[in-house]
Amino acid sequence: MLSYRHGYHAGNHADVLKHWVQVLCLQYLKQKDKPFYYVDSHAGGGLYDLKSQFAQKTNEAAEGITCLWQQSDQPDVLADYIDAVAQFNPHKLKNYPGSPAIAANLLREGDRLRLVEMHSAEISALQKQFAKDRRVKVIDGDGFQELKALLPPPTRRGLVLMDPPYEMKADYQRVIGAMKENLKRFANGIYLIWYPLINSVAAQRYSDQLRKLPCDKWLDVQLSVARPPQGHGMYGSGIFVVNPPWVLEEQLHSGLDYLVKKLAQDEAAESRILSSENH
Ligand code: SAM
Repeated sequence: MLSYRHGYHAGNHADVLKHWVQVLCLQYLKQKDKPFYYVDSHAGGGLYDLKSQFAQKTNEAAEGITCLWQQSDQPDVLADYIDAVAQFNPHKLKNYPGSPAIAANLLREGDRLRLVEMHSAEISALQKQFAKDRRVKVIDGDGFQELKALLPPPTRRGLVLMDPPYEMKADYQRVIGAMKENLKRFANGIYLIWYPLINSVAAQRYSDQLRKLPCDKWLDVQLSVARPPQGHGMYGSGIFVVNPPWVLEEQLHSGLDYLVKKLAQDEAAESRILSSENH
């Protein structure tokens, strides 16, 4: 029984970091004329109503996308991400697109989306949203398992987002195990692995484990919005990128300071990027 619902968290600071990096990587893949696959192993519901009872209960978007909305000082490198959100909000900020909606909006006719989800309500939402989109296949299954059948994609070009809830500690080791398999099947894919910054031993060891994956090039990007609390709350998040586009590190450097400034909840907010080159 899955209890996690992304609707409680849609548009928070972690979504901002994750979806900004997602958009930058998708734009990079689109620079070539050749089609590619977007694979989301933990897709969520696709699109979230920020006025829903889920979103209103936590109001996490107020500490995320709302802080970036309609700002005149935003750096160019964030423009495509903000635009991706604006596509669903012609007037006021009312909806927040999850990773499947962002990808579907950016992908071209020849590109393909494979969205894996296990929660029945999220699967129904995805099926409804993409019923008429022939590029999209919604797969009811376990994302870690399904990746075995989905990789390598027929086009041999692709972006894989792994974004489990980590409510079960096993998710950490399942990602590591799945990534070892993924890299055997599709060594040159771009992989985005999202993770929370929280006070837990499993979480703190995780970055080290990701950095030991059998791949030559990676970036580990972290955005802390607050001082680590005494208890278990999330104080930031990270994205581990395997085979990052060569321009990505520079792009991230030119946007992260702005995100720290806008999303900071206290003076301990900071960002950092580690890479296979400077590690
Ligand atoms: N990627 C989405 C986005 O950025 O908009 C958010 C995904 S949310 C963090 C994680 C999702 O994974 C939840 O919707 C949950 O139901 C689903 N999930 C949990 N375990 C799963 C598994 N083993 N396989 C596929 N989906 C799973």
